[in-house]
Amino acid sequence: MQKSIWEDIVLPVFPTLDKDIETEVLVIGAGISGLLIADRLRKEGKKVIVVEKNRVGGERTKFTTATITALEDIRYGDLINKYGMEFAKTYLMANIGAIQKYRDLSETLDFDFESVSSYKYAKTEWEREELLKEYQAILSLDYPVKWIDHWEYDMDITGAIELENQGQMNPLRLIQNLVSGLTIYEQTKIEKIQNHVAYTKEHIIQAKYIIVSTGYPFVRRKGLYFTKLIQNKSYVAVIKDDTLPKGNAVGWNAEDIYFRTYKEYYIFGGNDHRVGQERKGYIPILSYILKKYPNKEVEYHWVNEDTISSDGIAYIGKFCNSMPDVFVATGFNLWGMTKAMIASEIICDTILQKENEYEWIFNPKRKPSLSFFIKNMGIAIRELLLPTTKRCGHLGCGLHYNKQEHTYECLCHGSKYDEKGNLIFNPAIHNKKKD
Ligand SMILES: Cc1cc2nc3c(=O)[nH]c(=O)nc-3n(C[C@H](O)[C@H](O)[C@H](O)COP(=O)(O)OP(=O)(O)OC[C@H]3O[C@@H](n4cnc5c(N)ncnc54)[C@H](O)[C@@H]3O)c2cc1C
Repeated sequence: MQKSIWEDIVLPVFPTLDKDIETEVLVIGAGISGLLIADRLRKEGKKVIVVEKNRVGGERTKFTTATITALEDIRYGDLINKYGMEFAKTYLMANIGAIQKYRDLSETLDFDFESVSSYKYAKTEWEREELLKEYQAILSLDYPVKWIDHWEYDMDITGAIELENQGQMNPLRLIQNLVSGLTIYEQTKIEKIQNHVAYTKEHIIQAKYIIVSTGYPFVRRKGLYFTKLIQNKSYVAVIKDDTLPKGNAVGWNAEDIYFRTYKEYYIFGGNDHRVGQERKGYIPILSYILKKYPNKEVEYHWVNEDTISSDGIAYIGKFCNSMPDVFVATGFNLWGMTKAMIASEIICDTILQKENEYEWIFNPKRKPSLSFFIKNMGIAIRELLLPTTKRCGHLGCGLHYNKQEHTYECLCHGSKYDEKGNLIFNPAIHNKKKD
């Protein structure tokens, strides 16, 4: 059975909402983004309530690998070409600032934060050439980056870039710390928002500000998030090995194997792909481990998903024009540790009416990229016409059975159900009725 390495942490249990309430700020979703936002606003003296449909720890956060790095899948060279130097530099500095915020937090909270180097590696000659261009791109942003031809890790590479002073942590230890000062209701699902009111099945919560930090927003039409967000999966396996230097790395391509160290463990992930697609599952990672470490046992393994934005940049800020006091943090593209921290800064500054230097980069009201929109409209039409009785409760696309995970998955927007029809992942909001 899948279990993440973080799940041994025991998190406190919180009550379920049993009456109508009023608050200044309502945060919906108790994953890393919701809790960092709630923590910052509480420290600023705001009256904050967090509601969570399951348990604190997040659907995505408890299954992350929790590297905190500016070396993510997005390439700074591409950002420079597409949006210019100022955009690329601001994006980079938003990430670096987020890492520093975690470092600052670790001075008062213990969540196994480590300052380590992050790497991006190439495994072919062609990738080496491309990575050299990326190295030059980061240098042109005036940020210290190193080129290395060899490293101490036992993965064969043709070269890598290194950023020093990045981070990694235990995400559930951070959450254990964050929840202690907050008012939280668990098993409390919001089904609808109208301006300043959020509705569960039985109760209402009135709030001056509402933050939707639920992974994929459950609000169906407002903001048109279904036109600009899909979900991708990533697979993880963990072995014991404490002989390697502390640090983390990603490959040139998003689906390449990535890794990080944690205490005496070595965590591998990869084979990222769209939810609902048949791919090789754990096979690429397990084959790699078997080849390199034939005598090691896999101690933990898990697969999970995250929201993917149309242009690779997260959506953080005001939800839509018609709900000016509702905010969103989503589209983290499997890089949610930095983005959750950035979201806590941007959303809190906006509520506190302070300037924020990164806000313009992540503006959720920007239009989806045309190629993304056209491709996904095509997929949605095909999936809506799929001849099956198993349909997603979100927009009605046909569901695909995943034999490995025994789940039903929606290719359109990544909703996921167990075999009994219980909802595992947004954007659908209800379990499926028996058909
Ligand atoms: C395998 C894997 C590895 C990853 N590794 C990294 C990494 O190394 N570094 C990195 O930066 N990122 C990584 N990520 C991405 C990162 O884990 C996510 O971006 C991040 O955890 C998202 O946090 P969140 O708070 O937005 O969502 P979540 O953690 O999913 O929290 C959202 C919460 O909202 C709740 N909710 C949903 N709907 C409702 C509702 N209607 N009412 C009330 N509550 C609701 C959910 O139950 C959930 O608890 C990885 C992702 C995966 C899948």
